[in-house]
Amino acid sequence: MNQFRYRLLRFFQGRYGTDQLNRGMFALAIVFALLAYFPKLGFLIFPETLLFILILLRMFSKNISKRYAENQKYLALTSPIRSFFRDILYNLRNKKAFHERNKGYKIFSCPRCGQRIRIPKGRGKVEIHCQKCSQTFIRRT
Ligand SMILES: [Zn+2]
Repeated sequence: MNQFRYRLLRFFQGRYGTDQLNRGMFALAIVFALLAYFPKLGFLIFPETLLFILILLRMFSKNISKRYAENQKYLALTSPIRSFFRDILYNLRNKKAFHERNKGYKIFSCPRCGQRIRIPKGRGKVEIHCQKCSQTFIRRT
């Protein structure tokens, strides 16, 4: 191992590193940075810089138990907000998966029972038979 890498490793040893609080502050700093482009919001560059300094200080801190406690506090305080965003992300991912699964298909619902039926696209007018209630109906695919 070369000298530089050794010293780098030594430097990071026993340092706190990153956690959810740091990631949260990072996200907030990015929001500030973007908003600071607006003429009247230029002052946001100061809280943004402050956040980045805080992130660095926490990352390289050797007081691990204190940083850990801060993170726990942050997690407790923000748990409703974070679960709100987690749900949004989850639904977006599922929507995308749904879209992937049904690529090249059209989804119809049975006029009698509402059962959803998947038919390949581009077959022209077809007679669709509902497996659930035996209703048949005609749709353009
Ligand atoms: Zn039906």
